Amino acid sequence: MAKLSIRHLDLKGKRTFIRVDFNVPLEEGKVIDDSRIRAALPTIQFAMDKGARTILASHLGRPKGKADPKYSLKPVAERLAQLIQKEVLLAPDCIGDETAQQVATMHDGDIMLLENLRFHSEEEKNDPEFARQLAQLCDLFVNDAFGTAHRAHASTEGITHFVRPAASGFLMERELRYLGEALHSPRRPFAVILGGAKVSDKIQVIENLLASADAILIGGAMAYTFLLARGFEVGRSLVEPDLADLARGLEARAAERGVKLMVPADHIVAAGPDDARGAKNISVAATGKDEMGLDIGTLTREQYTAMIARANTIFWNGPMGMFEKPPFDAGTLEIARSVSDATERRDATSIVGGGDSVAAVIRSGLAEKITHISTGGGATLEFVAGQTLPGVAALTDC
Ligand code: AMP
Repeated sequence: MAKLSIRHLDLKGKRTFIRVDFNVPLEEGKVIDDSRIRAALPTIQFAMDKGARTILASHLGRPKGKADPKYSLKPVAERLAQLIQKEVLLAPDCIGDETAQQVATMHDGDIMLLENLRFHSEEEKNDPEFARQLAQLCDLFVNDAFGTAHRAHASTEGITHFVRPAASGFLMERELRYLGEALHSPRRPFAVILGGAKVSDKIQVIENLLASADAILIGGAMAYTFLLARGFEVGRSLVEPDLADLARGLEARAAERGVKLMVPADHIVAAGPDDARGAKNISVAATGKDEMGLDIGTLTREQYTAMIARANTIFWNGPMGMFEKPPFDAGTLEIARSVSDATERRDATSIVGGGDSVAAVIRSGLAEKITHISTGGGATLEFVAGQTLPGVAALTDC
């Protein structure tokens, strides 16, 4: 079911509570990466232009449920004010009389940032009384923080029991559109690339994608559980032997459904992550007991990129190897290139989600060529695994 969007709301003069994700890195009281603030600008600018009285709320860091100046949103308010070239009022708290009094002085088009939601432990406990107090500040609720939508917190779920309608902001709308389309109506062929450390984190994702994917390309350490299940020696590679049966079951179900599930044919092995000089490309059948697999090999890269080059929808989560340590980043960077090529040359829809694969795409300088870079880590995976995200379910249906 599509969700109501901020574009459907009459915002003029309305106290509009917008849950944003301003959980940005700080150093010596300054924002050192403002990309999350910039990402929310279209929604904030839209509310401002429509004459809303915009009340922004976010968490920042982990202040353990009590006020701590180290985690104040003050530097964020300052950076936001520079970006929108307009004063941003910083509330003394996110609830309470003083905050309510400040809200009462707002004019149409004004912007206020509430102080850190996590100064109250009730936020993460989804405490109804705390949620009611947040709701008292506003007439409308907008959620633009997809990355926190998989948690039922007071500012993402609880508040919607006290203020309706609850709409998505532009960032949230974009996430739901691209991830939803990939899951429910992908342009075929649909290729899924999964990597990273553990199969256990991604079982549900694979299960769910078996229903919509045409091909699932497995890389990273999680490939070793599949290789072990196929009877290969995996040496000292990171592996989850307890999940070998499950991996075998997933392969069988993929075969039944006609989904091509691919595992590496060759890989880059070394004595360990610090043994760059000992790195060599061998067949997965030739792995020695003392070797550790740290990246997909050149033949596997060719096979995977050939698959990606034919796909019209691509979803990618997780690096193909230990990409933090060159030369074990080469497989991941090549996949990043082939995903961006497919997008640029053939207009494939590409979606990259999850911290490490996003980092790889940014590092390779290709981020702009990707159709959609998902802002959620856990939220993206849970969505793709077919789970209901409480922060999304709470939004008003369209
Ligand atoms: P995840 O958070 O599950 O996406 O996993 C990302 C982590 O998996 C990164 O820190 C990678 O270094 C790590 N990783 C990927 N492939 C391997 C590998 N072959 N051996 C060890 N670690 C790996």
